Amino acid sequence: MDDILIIGAGAAGMTSAIRAAQRGKKVVVLEKMDKVGGTLSLTAGHISGASTQRQSYAGIQDTPDSHYSDIVRICRNTMDPTITRKAVDLASSTIDWLTELGYSFHDRTPAIIYGHEAYSIARTYFGKEDIHPKMQESGQTILRLLLPLWNEQVHKGNIRLLIRCKLKQIIVDKNLVVGIIAEQDDREFILTAHHYLLTTGGYASCPTFFENCTPGTSRLMSAANPASTGDGIKAALQIGAVFQGAEKQMYTLGGIELQPGSGRINFWEAWARMSNSIDRKQREIYVNIRGERFMNEYDWSVDQREHAILSQPGKKCWVLFDQRALYDGDSLVPQWTTDQMVQESYREQAVWQAPSLRELAFKTGLPPDALEKTVDKFNESCIAGFDSSWGRTYLKHPLDTPPFFAVLVYAYALISFGGIQVNNQLQVMREGGQTFNNLYAAGEILGAAATSGQAFCGGMLLTPAISFGKWLGDHL
Ligand SMILES: Cc1cc2nc3c(=O)[nH]c(=O)nc-3n(C[C@H](O)[C@H](O)[C@H](O)COP(=O)(O)OP(=O)(O)OC[C@H]3O[C@@H](n4cnc5c(N)ncnc54)[C@H](O)[C@@H]3O)c2cc1C
Repeated sequence: MDDILIIGAGAAGMTSAIRAAQRGKKVVVLEKMDKVGGTLSLTAGHISGASTQRQSYAGIQDTPDSHYSDIVRICRNTMDPTITRKAVDLASSTIDWLTELGYSFHDRTPAIIYGHEAYSIARTYFGKEDIHPKMQESGQTILRLLLPLWNEQVHKGNIRLLIRCKLKQIIVDKNLVVGIIAEQDDREFILTAHHYLLTTGGYASCPTFFENCTPGTSRLMSAANPASTGDGIKAALQIGAVFQGAEKQMYTLGGIELQPGSGRINFWEAWARMSNSIDRKQREIYVNIRGERFMNEYDWSVDQREHAILSQPGKKCWVLFDQRALYDGDSLVPQWTTDQMVQESYREQAVWQAPSLRELAFKTGLPPDALEKTVDKFNESCIAGFDSSWGRTYLKHPLDTPPFFAVLVYAYALISFGGIQVNNQLQVMREGGQTFNNLYAAGEILGAAATSGQAFCGGMLLTPAISFGKWLGDHL
């Protein structure tokens, strides 16, 4: 019998398999896709941790306690305290391990990152290749670091990889897992091991599951890994595991649905830079389906911006600008030049342009009178230098130079916030407070809310995925 059966070869699964195999354990890994890596091929790759060697070289004083306090502050204490404590405590050894492996840190790191609500101390890291000027591809720094270690253990026979092999069901006898049913090439079979580890990722690419478990979601807009269909969560629920945190789901701003009706956003193809006013100053205004502004577009708090969109019908809005704003500085969509934005407006699928606000309203379906009133009021604010509606302080110029443009953007799910509850040994909890003694879970299957609460705390998905995978690989 194999020592450990790992289901899902992403950040958590690969790391645990590598570490366990390096200790001489016999590991079998199931992966339903035709290659390993999971979301590591898509991720932006930001990782965060305090008291790292790299911070100490940079003379930065930081502790896991400060990291924990920052998370509590950012998410208003809505995370799982036990799991978050474990995550911040393990983070420095994870980042130091990556350092030993030769991780190609970007010179700017450790850094304070403003794409999410900012930490108070520079403790976020990413690789040199993770920052692409036009954000057109993922740097895959961590995947490229793990692959040689993975291949070494596969060649030694310590990791047996079953590719295109899918978990179908978990078989239990009271509080022990006694096997799983897997499917490969239309053939079902049973696999057994001493320990079982669920690292199948999240569910943000399964519209039915997501919409059913997330209050107030009528249509999922997702940029998640297409393989993130919640298989491990669904199998765990069938055996009575506890699922929690889905009601804390948060969304990323600025998703552009290039194929209307698809429900898909491609993070590396097109999104509107709405998440903060530090990386880019907004020349635009945002209007909801009623043609009204609903937030200060220049708000410094990323978290407040992310919460403002939650109460908008359809979690969508239109980013509105005129010809002058279009050419006055960097592009709203990092992947598009200004000319590409104009080209997109001719396609009339996600971007529209019109010589007047009334015609733009007609094309987008926005109420024309309300839209004109909103823009008139904003323009008056620009002239007065004071925004009485939302207190916006950056009022460079009125939107009065035709043609006018509107980009339809959605708040979209990059990751899922609900997940399987585990104890501090990462054993899966059963309803009634017991655990499955030989069933463990790590990574996004725990849900982003476990380590990030109802907010985005930088690096608090990928770092715990690697840390918990590593910890399990070292201990099982
Ligand atoms: C575009 C993008 C950017 C991101 N940027 C960041 C960031 O900068 N920082 C951060 O902290 N987080 C980020 N995240 C989130 C983070 O990258 C992921 O949460 C993390 O990589 C998930 O790792 P995982 O191992 O839990 O799951 P995954 O990497 O998703 O791996 C799960 C694996 O399980 C396999 N699988 C699923 N079901 C089955 C089954 N039934 N049988 C067998 N195999 C199965 C899947 O094919 C997949 O290979 C980002 C996510 C996205 C989509």
